[in-house]
Amino acid sequence: MNLPLTIAMPAEASAAPKTYRLLIDGKFVDARDGRTLERNSPGHGFTVSRYAQAGEEEVEAAVQAAAHKAFETGPWPRMKAGERAAILLKAADLIEARLKEIARLDALESGKPITQARGEIGGAVDIWRYAAALARTLHGETYANLGDAMLGVVLREPIGVVSIITPWNFPFLIVSQKLPFALAAGCTAVVKPSEMTSASTFVLGDILMRAGLPDGVVNILAGLGADVGAPMVSHPLVEMVSFTGSTRVGKVTMASAANALKKVSMELGGKNGQIVFPDADLEAAADAAVFGGFFNAGECCNAGSRLIVHEAIADDFLGAVKALTARVTVGDPLDDSTKVGAMISSEHLAKVTGYVAAAANDGSSVYSGGKQIASSAGQYLDPTILRGVTEDMAIAREEVFGPVLSVLTFGSIEEALRIANNTPYGLSAGVWSASIDTCMSVARNVRSGTVWVNTFMEGYPELPFGGYKQSGLGRELGKRAVEDYTEEKTIQFHRGQRTGWWVG
Ligand code: NAD
Repeated sequence: MNLPLTIAMPAEASAAPKTYRLLIDGKFVDARDGRTLERNSPGHGFTVSRYAQAGEEEVEAAVQAAAHKAFETGPWPRMKAGERAAILLKAADLIEARLKEIARLDALESGKPITQARGEIGGAVDIWRYAAALARTLHGETYANLGDAMLGVVLREPIGVVSIITPWNFPFLIVSQKLPFALAAGCTAVVKPSEMTSASTFVLGDILMRAGLPDGVVNILAGLGADVGAPMVSHPLVEMVSFTGSTRVGKVTMASAANALKKVSMELGGKNGQIVFPDADLEAAADAAVFGGFFNAGECCNAGSRLIVHEAIADDFLGAVKALTARVTVGDPLDDSTKVGAMISSEHLAKVTGYVAAAANDGSSVYSGGKQIASSAGQYLDPTILRGVTEDMAIAREEVFGPVLSVLTFGSIEEALRIANNTPYGLSAGVWSASIDTCMSVARNVRSGTVWVNTFMEGYPELPFGGYKQSGLGRELGKRAVEDYTEEKTIQFHRGQRTGWWVG
């Protein structure tokens, strides 16, 4: 049969799946009950990985016997920051040396294009180096202005054991937005990657052990959210939960953490809009619209899933967007020329096509794509553009998490802002205009954690990232990223005899 998409089978398809064991207290071990989890390559359909599957017993071992012990009695929190930084820098070098291997694992397990995966691992290296630099600049405060008898000293101490839970869409990059900062602060950690994309996090574990991280400082558990994630959140010896994932699971996680009053950091979903004004560089804006909508097959918290276009240019501009979309190469994640790879699972693909069908039912029209592409293996979706979307439709408000661009139009800047803000999410937004007034008005009035002006979806370790509204709580990256993993301790030093006795 002649299919539109023929997927070549990589060498891994004819070998046994790679196996990964849990990292607990410096040793790679099987689950005590011997259970394993398998992962199929969504681009090719063969079993690519088999991980030891943790349960509550392994969570107990990782938190209590490893991470808590390493925090209470181990060297890590007590080392000089420079010594911790040296290990983080060594880890960065080792990640860089294994960049291609890690990128291939992420591409095979998540279906993302290999060239993009390499870019993400390169970005992660940069973040590990940035965190190493911050380790050495972390400091507290002193107050010598409290009178002669008093010196106030405010310490920044590591908060303790941190549970780190990550999603499947950027497996290596997201753990790298959390773990190096927690380590820089002197914390210890238990990490749970997504059950669909755990391989690269285990490679990170191997790298950290080789870089000289003391046993028990980082522990890695593969497993399901209910079996492993939930007890990692509720465990009484865990002081902080750093979670990236869906808003739905984020709320459950936060409620559980609230029971024990744990600190949380939440990076959740998005429904981000790019607003395009007639005076913009429309060629650049069209390219960014396609990039924003279809990068990582739209399986991206930052996806520019709503294109908010001025009505005066809508027809011509969308014609350009459609023409560019037709040139986006969809296919084998391992092919260097691929721009859009596979969808993470057939269930997720069905959910996304269900959204498209419901949007058509609600009155929008499919302007481009809309269907699964028949392929010899894996599951692929044609990049899809929906026109005639209105603010009340589910497709305009909910996170679809697929390569689906919903087009809404506006007549005035006030209307554009109302549309942009009319969602429960507030992660990011984009504005395209040659007018500084227009750009500033949008940037100041959009309720989101990041606003890109005449660009889209760039990221730098120096710049804080996170969401307003239901897109999250707290910020990652930026110069305060290490502080997030600390507690403040106030020490008051009194000199001489205390005055103003209470009883006398
Ligand atoms: P998810 O919420 O289904 O899962 C995320 C992680 O939570 C996984 O490791 C999962 O096993 C775990 N989990 C599931 N149930 C749990 C529970 N009860 N307790 C503790 N942990 C549990 O998300 P996903 O489908 O893996 O990822 C996609 C979502 O992540 C999207 O909504 C996306 O927007 C979001 N995301 C946000 C950012 C950001 O920085 N804001 C970045 C990437 C992805």
